[in-house]
Amino acid sequence: MKQINASIITIGDELLIGQTIDTNSAFIAQELNKIGVWVKRRVAVGDSGDDIWQALDAESTISDIIIVTGGLGPTADDITKPLLCKYFGGKLVVNEEVVKHVKYLFEQVFRRPGPMLERNLKQAEVPDVCAVLHNARGTAPGMLFHKNGKVFISLPGVPHEMRGLIVNEVIPRLLQEFEMPSILHRTAFTSGQGESMIAEHIKDFESALPPYIKLAYLPGYGMVKLRLTATGDNKEELEKELDSQFGQLKKLIKAWLVTDTDEGLEVVLGKILKQKGRTMGTAESCTGGYIAHLITSVAGSSAYYNGSIVSYANEVKENILGVQHKTLESAGAVSEETVKQMVKGAIEKLNADYVVATSGIMGPDGGTADKPVGTVWIGAGNKESVIAKQFLFRFDRERNIQQTAHVALDFLRKFILTNS
Ligand code: AMP
Ligand code: MG
Repeated sequence: MKQINASIITIGDELLIGQTIDTNSAFIAQELNKIGVWVKRRVAVGDSGDDIWQALDAESTISDIIIVTGGLGPTADDITKPLLCKYFGGKLVVNEEVVKHVKYLFEQVFRRPGPMLERNLKQAEVPDVCAVLHNARGTAPGMLFHKNGKVFISLPGVPHEMRGLIVNEVIPRLLQEFEMPSILHRTAFTSGQGESMIAEHIKDFESALPPYIKLAYLPGYGMVKLRLTATGDNKEELEKELDSQFGQLKKLIKAWLVTDTDEGLEVVLGKILKQKGRTMGTAESCTGGYIAHLITSVAGSSAYYNGSIVSYANEVKENILGVQHKTLESAGAVSEETVKQMVKGAIEKLNADYVVATSGIMGPDGGTADKPVGTVWIGAGNKESVIAKQFLFRFDRERNIQQTAHVALDFLRKFILTNS
């Protein structure tokens, strides 16, 4: 079966100057990948007619499907629509379905005061050479064109509108139009070992993989994801072979395996707590609530997450968590004793079975000779015992916070598994 290739072109000066981070192409790539389309290239271009034109020409020489996002708004910098009209040799005509939808959105959904502007109604103009894709979440419709056997799709840049269009309109049409091979993934998530050591450990397994199964290493915060990707025509057979290889891989990396599903530590931790019928809480100094945010971003976390005490100031560590004044004076806020007392205080205050606590120096200032920037103490415990460990992360502030949060989640996960 022929491989179906796609290119994603994202449009907008804001993407090129780094003001907006291009999240659209990551989402589109994931959705295309699920149905067996191989994303060959992703490019970003500015709000420039010539650049968009050139990108369309270039991508259509290598891909069967070209998906474009951005530049469909009602303002002057949004030039995609007239440009596409010219590119595909059509003229702009009013689409009555879209007129109805735009009116409906303004009158029933947005309920904006004042009249609808001419430029809003212009959203209902589409090239007469395209198929209109219904945008349930906004006024700019998606458009689908054919040229020289290639499919071109233009979508608005607003991420949640684009996502709705991809899932409800684009993917079903592509599945109708193309016969796709299968692209299957299995992901294992490890912690406690670096990628080079893992690679060394599984090198025989890796070199014995058949050519249609590829292994990828994705290092992250204190962990490494290993992904096996299989490509082929017979989905059932491919699945069988992939699962057998994945089973072998999991055996080899058993000592470091956290989960065999592509999910975050906060999800893994939640599953463990749910299964054990236990609750947890957090006492966060240097992570400032970031761990709480990660945990509560999981739907259903209220079943096991009691809450957090963001004890950023020493007064809060002392007055709310009951960290002893003399501990803060002698050992300091970033110390074994302090995080252990934070754990104990939070277990009581939050009435939680398990607590993880963080205290560290995130930078760029605040480091000393014996406690440089990146020094972090993490504590974890239950009513019976409390443990703590020192870490040294050497990145910038943002990365230090993220790294601390991930390591803390893993620290608590391990504590629960050995103390339950
Ligand atoms: P536009 O369709 O070009 O008018 O874009 C509308 C909004 O979506 C703007 O706020 C853009 O910053 C945002 N946007 C456009 N393209 C992307 C993209 N590739 N990723 C994330 N946001 C985007
Ligand atoms: Mg734009």
